[in-house]
Amino acid sequence: MQSDFSDDFQICDRDLTPATLDQYLQSESLAVDTETMGLRPHRDRLCLVQLCDVRGKVTVLRIAQGQTEAPKLKQLLEASSVTKIFHFARFDIATLQHYLGIAVQPLFCTKIASKLARTYSPRHGLKDLIRELEGIDLDKTAQSSDWGNAAHLSEEQLRYAANDVRYLISARAKLTQMLQREGRWELAQACFGCLPTLAALDLRDFEQIFEH
Ligand code: MN
Repeated sequence: MQSDFSDDFQICDRDLTPATLDQYLQSESLAVDTETMGLRPHRDRLCLVQLCDVRGKVTVLRIAQGQTEAPKLKQLLEASSVTKIFHFARFDIATLQHYLGIAVQPLFCTKIASKLARTYSPRHGLKDLIRELEGIDLDKTAQSSDWGNAAHLSEEQLRYAANDVRYLISARAKLTQMLQREGRWELAQACFGCLPTLAALDLRDFEQIFEH
């Protein structure tokens, strides 16, 4: 098993360093995930933002309680030259908008891509997706844990947080190939384009407005 705490892993507080921002701006894509206190953005604060670039450099960024901005993170996540890859982007971009005022774009969501491409499977969770596409078994035991005590995160929590972004760039490449092969790539891109609207509706508590 590869080491999780090598030169390719770092922890930042409150915002990215200038050097990390410069490095990540060179990457054509960036895997992103967040950890929060729960699933309701208005109630459950943002605790961590994890990032991984095409070279495998992972950053875990700790967000302080009451923090309302992270200018370098905002510059990166809004940079049009860098595609941001999430698994279930709808949630993460809502929480990044709500807590840090970041309008993330452009987007790729591996969960939407999986639903459009892997119609042979009912399982589109990150663990199932990464097992099939990458042959890696993600350990999700730290998923439901206390991310609020950011100064004292356990090694297990940090490993979990890092692994959630480590395989998304490779998974995106495979899903893109599948979508192109099946003639659904343009539909997928249109879905990614809708995500900021869906997140804005979620933040204003509108539900199911496309239903009859
Ligand atoms: Mn995660």
